[in-house]
Amino acid sequence: MSSILVLPGDGIGPEIVDEALRVLDAAKARFGLDIDLDHGLVGGAAYDAEGDPLPESTLEKARAADAILFGSIGGPKWDTIERDKRPERGLLRLRSSLGLFANLRPAILFPQLAGASSLKPEVVSGLDILIVRELTGGIYFGQPRGIKEENGERVGFNTYVYSESEMKRIARVAFDLAMQRGKRVCSVDKANVLEVTELWKEVVTEEAKAYPEIELSHMYVDNAAMQLVRAPKQFDVIVTGNLFGDILSDEAAMLTGSIGMLPSASLDENRKGLYEPCHGSAPDIAGQGIANPLATIMSLAMLMRYSLQRGDVADAIEAAVEKVLDQGLRTADIHTEGTRKVSTGEMGAAVAEALVNG
Ligand code: NAD
Repeated sequence: MSSILVLPGDGIGPEIVDEALRVLDAAKARFGLDIDLDHGLVGGAAYDAEGDPLPESTLEKARAADAILFGSIGGPKWDTIERDKRPERGLLRLRSSLGLFANLRPAILFPQLAGASSLKPEVVSGLDILIVRELTGGIYFGQPRGIKEENGERVGFNTYVYSESEMKRIARVAFDLAMQRGKRVCSVDKANVLEVTELWKEVVTEEAKAYPEIELSHMYVDNAAMQLVRAPKQFDVIVTGNLFGDILSDEAAMLTGSIGMLPSASLDENRKGLYEPCHGSAPDIAGQGIANPLATIMSLAMLMRYSLQRGDVADAIEAAVEKVLDQGLRTADIHTEGTRKVSTGEMGAAVAEALVNG
């Protein structure tokens, strides 16, 4: 039996997670899955109930689960409370407490939605990239860091540091994932300027020797940023550090033009993971039943593929999403003329039905 902890969070979080759970029920019915569901509080909802955006009880449940399905957190209601108690802190603490060092951000553009991108449809239609970003190291965490006085003026400084072991483990994640996809990995660095990434390039190249089927290439980050908008379909898996990954994954996400469609996963060494949509809690539309649940539903698909090793179930969920898009169903954020505008619940129900009917 596998266990999933469900953390709906704030804003549209509970609405979209409900639809993912509806799809999970359909998956259980079709595939006979044996899954134990637990529920917990996180973010503003947890702060309101227990004065802490990540209560100890939630962390304990998270540690015990095989995977976590997460909605979204935050909202204006909690923007002015003390920094340490803000909803976002709960998510950051959850990621670091669980050692979730590998962030997977697919940028997939279903051909049915190619018109939503700001790029020409032929450049992005059928796009399927996976960005693997190191999430717990690099310049975001390096010491020393700070702002100090020097020679009568202020100086700001950060440290870009990666150990060999950190580089190796993220490289291995990228290679393992690429083996399940197109077997091509592009490692992004700035090895012409930064020693850290010179070592990164060396270590990634060394690790690749254990994966003879993988075609490894290297690209400087400035070129990668350019190539992503010029010819994004040239990429299969991109692996990079925390800072470059932060920027490139947002750039890749925007290629698709629809934030409500993008799932993500953050994994630890044993493939336990936290799965969440890339978007936030969308307070502007919360409670209206119009949020797009597909990013969360596809996060559930990733959960099946990476933490529960059920690629077959993941494929079926993704096929169900595609079928529903083919039928012309669209939530408001992806609605265009000639398609049928549906609510959050109608979209979730349609995917669940498509899944059950295979
Ligand atoms: P957002 O992603 O919540 O919303 C940006 C825009 O996209 C809004 O117009 C929103 O209505 C729309 N949108 C987002 N998801 C959608 C969906 N599923 N369907 C339809 N439309 C959708 O970003 P924001 O407005 O900058 O942030 C709102 C709150 O979310 C803030 O409190 C922020 O801190 C928080 N946030 C949380 C996470 C997270 O939970 N991981 C991530 C980003 C932001």
